[in-house]
Amino acid sequence: MKAVRLHAGPEIRIEEAPEPEVGPGQIRVVVRAAGVCGTDLHAAHGRLPVPALPVIMGHEGAGVVDRVGEGVSGFRDGDRVLLLPSETCGSCPACEAGHVGLCAGARILGMARDGTFAEKIVVPASCVLALPDRIAFEHGAILADAVATAYHAVATRAGIAGGERVAVIGCGGVGHHVILLARLLGAKTIIAVDASQGALRRAEAAGADVQVDARIENVRKAVRRAAGGEGPDVVIEYAGRRSSVELAMTCVARGGRVVVGGVGMESPELGPLVSFVGREIAVLGSMGYTRAELARVVELTASGRLDLSGSITGRYPLDRAAEAIDDLANRRDDPIRLVLLPGPRP
Ligand SMILES: [Zn+2]
Ligand SMILES: [Zn+2]
Repeated sequence: MKAVRLHAGPEIRIEEAPEPEVGPGQIRVVVRAAGVCGTDLHAAHGRLPVPALPVIMGHEGAGVVDRVGEGVSGFRDGDRVLLLPSETCGSCPACEAGHVGLCAGARILGMARDGTFAEKIVVPASCVLALPDRIAFEHGAILADAVATAYHAVATRAGIAGGERVAVIGCGGVGHHVILLARLLGAKTIIAVDASQGALRRAEAAGADVQVDARIENVRKAVRRAAGGEGPDVVIEYAGRRSSVELAMTCVARGGRVVVGGVGMESPELGPLVSFVGREIAVLGSMGYTRAELARVVELTASGRLDLSGSITGRYPLDRAAEAIDDLANRRDDPIRLVLLPGPRP
Protein backbone atom coordinates (compact mmCIF):
# COMPACT_ATOMS: atom_id res chain seq x y z
CA MET A 1 0.00 0.00 0.00
CA LYS A 2 1.00 3.63 -0.43
CA ALA A 3 2.06 5.51 2.73
CA VAL A 4 3.62 8.83 3.77
CA ARG A 5 6.60 8.09 6.00
CA LEU A 6 8.59 10.52 8.08
CA HIS A 7 12.29 9.62 8.23
CA ALA A 8 15.16 11.08 10.25
CA GLY A 9 16.28 14.42 8.89
CA PRO A 10 13.35 14.94 9.06
CA GLU A 11 12.37 13.94 5.55
CA ILE A 12 8.97 13.01 4.13
CA ARG A 13 8.88 10.12 1.65
CA ILE A 14 5.97 8.58 -0.24
CA GLU A 15 6.64 4.87 -0.01
CA GLU A 16 5.25 1.44 -0.70
CA ALA A 17 4.60 -0.20 2.70
CA PRO A 18 3.35 -3.67 3.59
CA GLU A 19 -0.34 -3.86 4.46
CA PRO A 20 -0.56 -3.95 8.27
CA GLU A 21 -1.72 -7.23 9.82
CA VAL A 22 -4.64 -7.31 12.24
CA GLY A 23 -3.97 -8.72 15.71
CA PRO A 24 -6.39 -9.61 18.50
CA GLY A 25 -8.38 -6.61 19.75
CA GLN A 26 -7.48 -4.59 16.65
CA ILE A 27 -9.33 -3.25 13.63
CA ARG A 28 -7.99 -2.52 10.14
CA VAL A 29 -9.46 0.53 8.45
CA VAL A 30 -9.24 1.64 4.81
CA VAL A 31 -8.46 5.34 5.22
CA ARG A 32 -10.80 7.50 3.14
CA ALA A 33 -9.75 10.88 4.56
CA ALA A 34 -6.90 11.99 6.85
CA GLY A 35 -6.66 15.45 8.40
CA VAL A 36 -3.41 17.42 8.29
CA CYS A 37 -2.81 19.14 11.61
CA GLY A 38 -0.31 21.59 13.09
CA THR A 39 1.24 18.66 14.96
CA ASP A 40 2.15 16.95 11.64
CA LEU A 41 3.72 20.20 10.54
CA HIS A 42 5.84 20.51 13.70
CA ALA A 43 6.94 16.86 13.34
CA ALA A 44 7.81 17.31 9.65
CA HIS A 45 9.87 20.42 10.44
CA GLY A 46 11.74 18.77 13.31
CA ARG A 47 10.27 21.04 15.97
CA LEU A 48 8.61 18.14 17.75
CA PRO A 49 10.53 15.03 18.75
CA VAL A 50 9.06 11.95 17.05
CA PRO A 51 9.85 8.85 19.13
CA ALA A 52 9.41 6.14 16.48
CA LEU A 53 11.19 7.21 13.26
CA PRO A 54 10.64 6.16 10.56
CA VAL A 55 6.88 6.31 11.04
CA ILE A 56 3.79 6.66 8.85
CA MET A 57 2.48 10.17 9.65
CA GLY A 58 -1.00 11.40 10.62
CA HIS A 59 -3.34 11.12 13.59
CA GLU A 60 -6.66 12.22 12.12
CA GLY A 61 -8.65 9.85 9.97
CA ALA A 62 -11.91 8.26 8.92
CA GLY A 63 -12.70 5.35 6.66
CA VAL A 64 -14.22 1.91 6.33
CA VAL A 65 -13.54 -1.20 8.44
CA ASP A 66 -11.67 -3.72 6.34
CA ARG A 67 -10.91 -6.49 8.86
CA VAL A 68 -11.80 -7.08 12.50
CA GLY A 69 -9.38 -8.85 14.85
CA GLU A 70 -10.16 -11.64 17.26
CA GLY A 71 -12.18 -10.61 20.31
CA VAL A 72 -13.50 -7.35 18.85
CA SER A 73 -17.23 -6.83 19.09
CA GLY A 74 -19.44 -4.01 17.83
CA PHE A 75 -17.73 -3.55 14.45
CA ARG A 76 -17.75 -5.51 11.20
CA ASP A 77 -16.32 -5.20 7.69
CA GLY A 78 -17.79 -2.30 5.75
CA ASP A 79 -18.66 -0.14 8.79
CA ARG A 80 -17.97 3.57 8.39
CA VAL A 81 -15.77 4.76 11.26
CA LEU A 82 -13.70 7.64 12.55
CA LEU A 83 -10.42 7.24 14.42
CA LEU A 84 -9.35 8.70 17.73
CA PRO A 85 -5.88 10.28 17.42
CA SER A 86 -4.12 8.23 20.08
CA GLU A 87 -3.93 4.84 21.63
CA THR A 88 -4.61 5.31 25.35
CA CYS A 89 -3.62 3.05 28.27
CA GLY A 90 -7.22 2.43 29.31
CA SER A 91 -6.43 2.14 33.02
CA CYS A 92 -5.16 5.50 34.37
CA PRO A 93 -7.51 7.90 36.21
CA ALA A 94 -7.91 10.05 33.04
CA CYS A 95 -8.83 7.01 30.93
CA GLU A 96 -11.26 5.83 33.60
CA ALA A 97 -12.91 9.26 33.50
CA GLY A 98 -13.11 8.98 29.69
CA HIS A 99 -10.74 11.96 29.25
CA VAL A 100 -8.67 10.60 26.38
CA GLY A 101 -6.70 13.87 26.09
CA LEU A 102 -5.12 13.53 29.54
CA CYS A 103 -3.86 9.93 29.46
CA ALA A 104 -0.16 10.15 30.38
CA GLY A 105 0.50 6.87 28.59
CA ALA A 106 -1.14 7.92 25.30
CA ARG A 107 0.66 6.89 22.10
CA ILE A 108 -0.29 9.32 19.38
CA LEU A 109 -0.84 7.87 15.90
CA GLY A 110 1.74 9.06 13.40
CA MET A 111 4.24 9.78 16.19
CA ALA A 112 4.62 6.80 18.53
CA ARG A 113 3.12 4.32 16.04
CA ASP A 114 2.08 4.26 12.38
CA GLY A 115 -0.64 6.76 11.52
CA THR A 116 -3.37 7.68 9.05
CA PHE A 117 -1.38 8.98 6.04
CA ALA A 118 -1.69 5.60 4.32
CA GLU A 119 -4.19 3.52 2.40
CA LYS A 120 -4.80 1.34 5.46
CA ILE A 121 -4.18 1.51 9.20
CA VAL A 122 -4.47 -0.98 12.06
CA VAL A 123 -5.56 0.41 15.45
CA PRO A 124 -6.86 -1.00 18.73
CA ALA A 125 -10.67 -1.18 18.77
CA SER A 126 -10.66 1.56 21.46
CA CYS A 127 -9.48 4.05 18.77
CA VAL A 128 -12.54 3.44 16.58
CA LEU A 129 -15.96 5.11 16.72
CA ALA A 130 -18.92 4.61 14.37
CA LEU A 131 -19.36 7.37 11.79
CA PRO A 132 -23.02 8.03 10.88
CA ASP A 133 -23.88 7.84 7.15
CA ARG A 134 -24.84 11.51 7.11
CA ILE A 135 -21.29 12.65 7.94
CA ALA A 136 -18.76 12.81 5.08
CA PHE A 137 -15.43 11.01 5.59
CA GLU A 138 -13.54 14.30 5.37
CA HIS A 139 -15.61 15.67 8.27
CA GLY A 140 -15.27 12.38 10.15
CA ALA A 141 -11.51 12.78 9.86
CA ILE A 142 -11.48 16.10 11.72
CA LEU A 143 -14.19 15.45 14.35
CA ALA A 144 -11.83 13.66 16.74
CA ASP A 145 -9.32 16.49 16.72
CA ALA A 146 -10.15 20.01 15.54
CA VAL A 147 -13.85 19.77 16.41
CA ALA A 148 -14.00 17.76 19.66
CA THR A 149 -11.02 19.72 21.05
CA ALA A 150 -12.90 22.96 20.37
CA TYR A 151 -16.04 21.56 22.02
CA HIS A 152 -14.10 20.68 25.21
CA ALA A 153 -12.68 24.22 25.35
CA VAL A 154 -16.00 25.97 24.71
CA ALA A 155 -18.55 23.78 26.49
CA THR A 156 -16.57 22.30 29.37
CA ARG A 157 -13.52 24.44 30.17
CA ALA A 158 -15.07 27.85 29.37
CA GLY A 159 -18.58 26.59 30.17
CA ILE A 160 -20.04 29.22 27.87
CA ALA A 161 -23.54 30.18 28.92
CA GLY A 162 -26.15 31.82 26.71
CA GLY A 163 -25.75 35.59 26.40
CA GLU A 164 -22.02 35.75 27.11
CA ARG A 165 -19.49 37.81 25.14
CA VAL A 166 -16.70 35.65 23.79
CA ALA A 167 -13.41 36.55 22.10
CA VAL A 168 -11.45 33.97 20.10
CA ILE A 169 -7.74 34.65 19.53
CA GLY A 170 -6.32 32.56 16.66
CA CYS A 171 -9.02 31.56 14.19
CA GLY A 172 -7.32 28.73 12.25
CA GLY A 173 -8.23 25.01 12.57
CA VAL A 174 -9.47 24.67 16.15
CA GLY A 175 -10.30 28.39 16.56
CA HIS A 176 -12.69 28.22 13.60
CA HIS A 177 -14.64 25.44 15.32
CA VAL A 178 -14.57 27.34 18.61
CA ILE A 179 -16.49 30.12 16.82
CA LEU A 180 -19.05 27.68 15.32
CA LEU A 181 -19.61 26.03 18.71
CA ALA A 182 -19.73 29.26 20.73
CA ARG A 183 -22.52 30.40 18.38
CA LEU A 184 -24.32 27.08 18.78
CA LEU A 185 -24.10 27.30 22.59
CA GLY A 186 -25.70 30.74 22.60
CA ALA A 187 -22.84 33.25 22.90
CA LYS A 188 -24.24 36.76 22.45
CA THR A 189 -21.26 38.47 20.84
CA ILE A 190 -18.30 36.69 19.26
CA ILE A 191 -15.14 38.68 18.57
CA ALA A 192 -12.56 37.07 16.27
CA VAL A 193 -8.89 38.12 16.62
CA ASP A 194 -6.30 37.00 14.06
CA ALA A 195 -3.31 38.44 12.21
CA SER A 196 -4.64 37.36 8.82
CA GLN A 197 -7.44 39.11 6.89
CA GLY A 198 -8.34 35.82 5.19
CA ALA A 199 -8.75 34.07 8.55
CA LEU A 200 -10.94 36.94 9.75
CA ARG A 201 -13.16 36.62 6.66
CA ARG A 202 -13.56 32.91 7.37
CA ALA A 203 -14.30 33.73 11.02
CA GLU A 204 -17.07 36.06 9.91
CA ALA A 205 -18.55 33.30 7.73
CA ALA A 206 -18.43 30.97 10.77
CA GLY A 207 -20.53 33.42 12.77
CA ALA A 208 -18.16 35.92 14.42
CA ASP A 209 -19.85 39.31 14.90
CA VAL A 210 -16.73 41.48 15.07
CA GLN A 211 -13.30 40.94 13.49
CA VAL A 212 -10.18 42.47 15.03
CA ASP A 213 -6.86 42.47 13.15
CA ALA A 214 -4.21 41.38 15.68
CA ARG A 215 -1.62 43.59 13.93
CA ILE A 216 -3.26 46.91 14.83
CA GLU A 217 -1.78 49.23 17.47
CA ASN A 218 -4.18 48.70 20.37
CA VAL A 219 -5.75 45.29 20.03
CA ARG A 220 -6.72 45.13 23.70
CA LYS A 221 -8.75 48.32 23.44
CA ALA A 222 -10.43 47.16 20.20
CA VAL A 223 -11.45 43.82 21.77
CA ARG A 224 -12.78 45.47 24.92
CA ARG A 225 -14.70 48.03 22.89
CA ALA A 226 -16.22 45.28 20.74
CA ALA A 227 -17.41 43.58 23.94
CA GLY A 228 -19.15 46.73 25.15
CA GLY A 229 -16.22 48.33 27.00
CA GLU A 230 -16.00 45.86 29.91
CA GLY A 231 -14.15 43.19 27.93
CA PRO A 232 -15.37 39.71 26.96
CA ASP A 233 -16.66 37.33 29.64
CA VAL A 234 -14.62 34.57 28.04
CA VAL A 235 -11.46 34.67 25.91
CA ILE A 236 -10.38 31.48 24.15
CA GLU A 237 -6.82 31.39 22.87
CA TYR A 238 -5.67 29.10 20.04
CA ALA A 239 -2.55 30.86 18.77
CA GLY A 240 -0.11 29.33 21.28
CA ARG A 241 1.90 32.55 21.66
CA ARG A 242 3.07 34.48 24.68
CA SER A 243 1.64 37.72 23.28
CA SER A 244 -1.79 36.23 22.57
CA VAL A 245 -2.14 34.68 26.05
CA GLU A 246 -1.10 37.99 27.62
CA LEU A 247 -3.62 39.80 25.40
CA ALA A 248 -6.31 37.34 26.56
CA MET A 249 -5.52 38.02 30.24
CA THR A 250 -5.52 41.80 29.85
CA CYS A 251 -8.65 42.14 27.70
CA VAL A 252 -10.96 39.73 29.57
CA ALA A 253 -13.70 41.25 31.76
CA ARG A 254 -13.39 41.36 35.57
CA GLY A 255 -14.34 37.92 36.88
CA GLY A 256 -13.87 36.46 33.39
CA ARG A 257 -12.36 33.20 32.13
CA VAL A 258 -9.41 32.73 29.83
CA VAL A 259 -9.10 29.33 28.18
CA VAL A 260 -5.71 28.58 26.63
CA GLY A 261 -5.69 25.80 24.04
CA GLY A 262 -2.77 26.87 21.84
CA VAL A 263 0.31 24.76 22.54
CA GLY A 264 3.80 26.23 22.38
CA MET A 265 7.05 26.64 24.25
CA GLU A 266 6.74 30.36 25.09
CA SER A 267 6.19 31.53 28.69
CA PRO A 268 3.54 34.22 29.19
CA GLU A 269 3.65 36.55 32.20
CA LEU A 270 0.79 36.61 34.66
CA GLY A 271 1.18 40.38 35.17
CA PRO A 272 1.00 42.18 38.53
CA LEU A 273 -0.85 40.07 41.11
CA VAL A 274 -2.86 43.09 42.18
CA SER A 275 -4.48 43.03 38.75
CA PHE A 276 -4.71 39.24 38.29
CA VAL A 277 -6.16 38.65 41.76
CA GLY A 278 -8.06 41.92 41.98
CA ARG A 279 -9.86 41.25 38.68
CA GLU A 280 -10.43 37.62 39.69
CA ILE A 281 -9.43 36.09 36.38
CA ALA A 282 -9.55 32.33 35.83
CA VAL A 283 -6.90 30.99 33.44
CA LEU A 284 -7.60 27.45 32.28
CA GLY A 285 -5.62 25.11 30.05
CA SER A 286 -7.61 22.95 27.66
CA MET A 287 -6.35 19.71 26.17
CA GLY A 288 -8.18 17.08 24.18
CA TYR A 289 -11.68 15.99 25.16
CA THR A 290 -13.66 13.14 26.68
CA ARG A 291 -15.33 10.27 24.82
CA ALA A 292 -18.72 11.73 25.77
CA GLU A 293 -17.75 15.09 24.21
CA LEU A 294 -16.62 13.35 21.01
CA ALA A 295 -19.94 11.49 20.86
CA ARG A 296 -21.71 14.83 21.33
CA VAL A 297 -19.97 16.52 18.37
CA VAL A 298 -20.67 13.47 16.19
CA GLU A 299 -24.35 13.78 17.14
CA LEU A 300 -24.42 17.57 16.54
CA THR A 301 -22.84 17.08 13.10
CA ALA A 302 -25.11 14.17 12.10
CA SER A 303 -28.20 16.17 13.08
CA GLY A 304 -27.05 19.13 10.98
CA ARG A 305 -26.92 21.52 13.96
CA LEU A 306 -23.16 21.80 13.60
CA ASP A 307 -22.35 22.74 10.01
CA LEU A 308 -18.84 21.73 8.95
CA SER A 309 -19.35 22.65 5.29
CA GLY A 310 -16.75 25.44 5.56
CA SER A 311 -14.19 23.42 7.54
CA ILE A 312 -12.21 21.67 4.79
CA THR A 313 -10.29 24.21 2.74
CA GLY A 314 -7.98 21.92 0.78
CA ARG A 315 -7.98 18.31 -0.49
CA TYR A 316 -4.87 16.43 -1.66
CA PRO A 317 -4.09 12.90 -2.85
CA LEU A 318 -1.69 10.96 -0.60
CA ASP A 319 1.35 11.52 -2.82
CA ARG A 320 0.99 15.31 -2.39
CA ALA A 321 1.22 15.13 1.43
CA ALA A 322 4.42 17.21 1.56
CA GLU A 323 2.71 19.94 -0.48
CA ALA A 324 -0.27 19.91 1.92
CA ILE A 325 2.10 20.30 4.89
CA ASP A 326 3.90 23.19 3.13
CA ASP A 327 0.59 24.88 2.37
CA LEU A 328 -0.38 24.59 6.04
CA ALA A 329 3.03 25.94 7.13
CA ASN A 330 2.72 28.94 4.80
CA ARG A 331 -0.98 29.36 5.67
CA ARG A 332 -1.63 29.36 1.94
CA ASP A 333 -5.22 30.53 1.32
CA ASP A 334 -5.75 30.72 5.12
CA PRO A 335 -6.44 27.03 5.71
CA ILE A 336 -8.89 25.78 8.31
CA ARG A 337 -8.36 22.07 7.81
CA LEU A 338 -6.59 20.31 4.93
CA VAL A 339 -7.27 16.65 4.21
CA LEU A 340 -5.48 13.88 2.34
CA LEU A 341 -7.77 11.57 0.36
CA PRO A 342 -5.87 8.27 -0.02
CA GLY A 343 -8.47 6.23 -1.87
CA PRO A 344 -9.95 6.57 -5.34
CA ARG A 345 -11.20 10.11 -5.89
CA PRO A 346 -14.77 10.48 -4.54
ZN1 LIG B 1 -4.01 17.20 15.57
ZN1 LIG C 1 -4.63 6.27 30.33
